[in-house]
This record gives sequence, structure tokens and C-alpha cells, in this order.
Amino acid sequence: MAGYCEDIVLISVFGSAHIDIIGHFLDESSVIDHVGVVDFRVGGTAYNVAAACRRAGRETRLITALPRSALAQFVQAEIAESGMEVRMVETGGHMVGAFSGHVGRDGKLVSAVSFTPIETISFDPEWLSQAISASRLMIADCNLSIDALCLGAQTAQRSGIPYWLAGVSEIKAERAVRAIERGYHVDLLQVNTVECKHLCNTVHAENAAAIARQWRVTLVVTNGKHGATLYTDEGLSTVFTPRQHDIVSAEADATCAGDVLLGQMAASWIRTGDITKSVEAASIIVGEFIRSRTSSTGDGHDHKDLYQSLDRHLQTVADHASRDSMTGLYNRRQAEAAMKQLPPWEPCALVLIDIDQFKHINDTYGHVQGDTIIHEVASILQSCVRNNDIAARWGGDEFLLLLRNISHNDAEMVILRIMAAIQSSSSPIAFSCSVGAQLFSIAEMTTNEAFIAADGALYEVKNHGRNGYRIETHGHQ
Ligand code: GH3
Ligand code: MG
Repeated sequence: MAGYCEDIVLISVFGSAHIDIIGHFLDESSVIDHVGVVDFRVGGTAYNVAAACRRAGRETRLITALPRSALAQFVQAEIAESGMEVRMVETGGHMVGAFSGHVGRDGKLVSAVSFTPIETISFDPEWLSQAISASRLMIADCNLSIDALCLGAQTAQRSGIPYWLAGVSEIKAERAVRAIERGYHVDLLQVNTVECKHLCNTVHAENAAAIARQWRVTLVVTNGKHGATLYTDEGLSTVFTPRQHDIVSAEADATCAGDVLLGQMAASWIRTGDITKSVEAASIIVGEFIRSRTSSTGDGHDHKDLYQSLDRHLQTVADHASRDSMTGLYNRRQAEAAMKQLPPWEPCALVLIDIDQFKHINDTYGHVQGDTIIHEVASILQSCVRNNDIAARWGGDEFLLLLRNISHNDAEMVILRIMAAIQSSSSPIAFSCSVGAQLFSIAEMTTNEAFIAADGALYEVKNHGRNGYRIETHGHQ
């Protein structure tokens, strides 16, 4: 096994970071819609292992991939809050997550889990190499593809650090074997008892010791609340059991015990370099972990805490779902939702603002400068509208304002104020905008008609030299 270092103790964990969601119902009424709370937690193996390393006081970095979505931002915030670093590949939205819930016999949701198919993602070698920089140990979750596991092995080897794998499930544990069969070096493999049996059957090995010998790998077979067995690459085994007083009942919930054991083991190993002592220390901690969880389950839920946590998380999720991630303005979906809720007789203005020759700006100064102009327009728009109005990024270099309860004169005043602010902007690159607006109320025309009219007005301004505005009042008094 490669050497260890006393000073730098960063551990990189590579794998998915999905969210587990647990629901608790608060009322016992017989109505179908129950009032309850939902507790979000990030709970994939990679996250659990990393969290255990972090709890043990080690610097930890989680390397993962997520689709560009509100959920991804939420997960990132969750991970950062737990004190870990994140290196994330944004997958551009084509990675579809699945969701499954467990409903009890009484018809109530007991728990639910979301899933991210990280095995569909391939990682760039350069990126991964950067992502593990300064790490002293790399742990990979076998829910990655075999190619990604091999790339991880290659990357760890190039950096001269050990590479450990977490089995995760029968099928996924098999991927570890396939990576080793392709000639990649794995220092340690952790699987649970069921996964180990499956591996023995798949590769026709007599037992765990034979697997360790055959693949020249240190094998740790975890067994929930019963601890773990360590097999050296020569096939020698040692059993480690948590302290019995830690396991308070036969039904003790040992979910994630394997993840916790692996994380604790990594945290201990990185300090001592002694694998046997590390499994022993980790087994004790696993016992404590199971006991702490057993004593906090049952009837002892603190609903107030759960409520607060729900409030906080739902607010974050709602914010992310309604905001444009780049500018923080409302997004198109939120603007459309706001338009649907307008009172029928309220005089409103639908205003479209489009940056002039923005493509030329991008081409001349680059996208980064282009982005600063988008930010600048967003902040000008935000500062020129009232609380009740909507300022949204419609897409690209186009923005939409929904000015509520407004007269023609006031709408014109707002538009002139925006244009003046753009003109006197401190941006080093001069730019202008064209504006098209439609005054309307829902009773007179649909929002769609208002949008088409505002767009037509914008088009006219673009056709007449840009940097101007046009307000349509057709159909509106
Ligand atoms: P016009 O005055 O007629 O509006 O010309 P234009 O060049 O602004 O219009 P066009 O629609 O051709 O170009 C808009 C450009 O905005 C094209 C697209 O690459 C760029 N764009 C869209 N979103 C972003 C972004 O988030 N950042 C940057 N920098 N550019 C973006
Ligand atoms: Mg434009």
C-alpha cells in the first residue's frame, strides 16, 4: 500500500451524491391528505463515507456529478454546509433522477429515496486529476461505471495515493472486480456480507479469503452491527466486533453501518497507516453510531426541529426552482406562473428588454465579459422595479418585466429610468438595450397576446436602429 503523510490529511471520495428524503406524518387523522414534515438528507454511499471521514475530523472532498438543476444546487449547499469540499461535474440536465417511496401498511409514507444514475457519466481525466489534488487517499463508490472506476485507479496511481473501493450493492460490487481484472490496482475493497457472497459466486471463489488472495486486494467485509472482517491480500483474516453494550437491541438500525465503517477506517488509516488498527477503531465507532441512532428513533422526534429544517429546505428548493441561477432574477417559469395569477382588471405592463448586438459583444470581448453585462442588466432591472413587480430573465440576453397596477406614464417612466441606468452604467464595455412593451389587463387580452404584442414592439425598435423603446397601448385604455 502506498505511503501516508502526517501533515496533509485530505481524503477524496468519488461517487454519487443523491438525496434521501424521509417523511414523518404529524397527525393521525383519517383524512387522505396527512399533514407531515419531510426531512431532506444527502445519503448516497459516497456522501456517507465522506461524511464519516469529515465527522472524524479529516479534510474531505466529495467528487461527484449532477445534472444542472435546482436539486443539484440544493445538494451542493447541503454538502458545503456539512463542511466538505465539493468538486462537481455539471451534466447539462440529461441525467434523469428517479424517486421511490416506501409506504407503510397504514398507507403512510415512511421513507423515500432519490437516485442519480452516475454510472452514465464519464469523467475527464484532466479534471479528475485536478479534483483529487493534494489528497492522500482516494475512495470510489462502485456506483460509478467500470470505466470511471478504472480512471479513478489510474488517477490515484499517477498521484501515488492508495485507491479504495466501496461495493455498494451486489451488481455494483462486481464492477470492482471487473476493474481489477482490467489490470488496475485497488488497495482495498469494502463490501458487505451479502455482496461478498455474490462476488464469491460470480467469480467462483471459495470464500472471501480466496477473493483477497486472488486479486491481491485487502478486503473488508462489513456485517452491520456485527462489525467487520479484514482479509489481507495473503488471505489472513481478523474479525472485529463493536462493543456489545453499544448495540442496545436486536432490531438496532444498522443501515449505512458499512459506509460509516469505511469512512472511519479511512480517517484512522490516514493518520496511522495501520489497516488492522483502523478497522478495529472503526468497528467501535460503528457501534456508537448504531447506538446513537437507535436511541434517537422511536417516538422521540423533535417536530419543531423537523419543521424548521423543512421550512429551511423547502425555501431553498423553492428559491432555486423559481430563480435564474446566473442572475438571481426570477426565471421564465416563475414569470409565467406570476402572469397566470394576475387579477383580471389590473392594469399591467409586460416589458421585454433585449441587449443590442450581444452576439457581437460576446464575439469581441468573450463570454465572460458578456456574462458581466447580463449581470449588470439584471441588477439594473431589479433596482428599477417595485416589490410587487416581476423582473425575470426570459432566456439568453432577453429579460421580461411584469409591472403591476401601472399607468402608461409610469410604465414609460420605469423604462426611461432603466435606459438611463444602462447608459450611465460603469461597465467598461458600452452596451445598449431595446425595449418593447404592451399595456394590458387580463380582462382585455391574454398574457400570450400581450407577449406577442410586446415582442412585436421590440422587433420594431430593433428594426429602427435599436437602443430605444416602444410601448403599445392597443386594446388598452
Ligand atoms: P440583437 O441586437 O438583434 O438582439 O442582436 P443579438 O446579437 O443580441 O442577438 P442574438 O439573439 O443573435 O444573440 C444573442 C446572443 O446571446 C447569442 C448567445 O450566444 C448569447 N447568450 C445567450 N445566453 C448567454 C449567456 O448566458 N452568457 C453570454 N455571455 N452570452 C449568452
Ligand atoms: Mg440581443
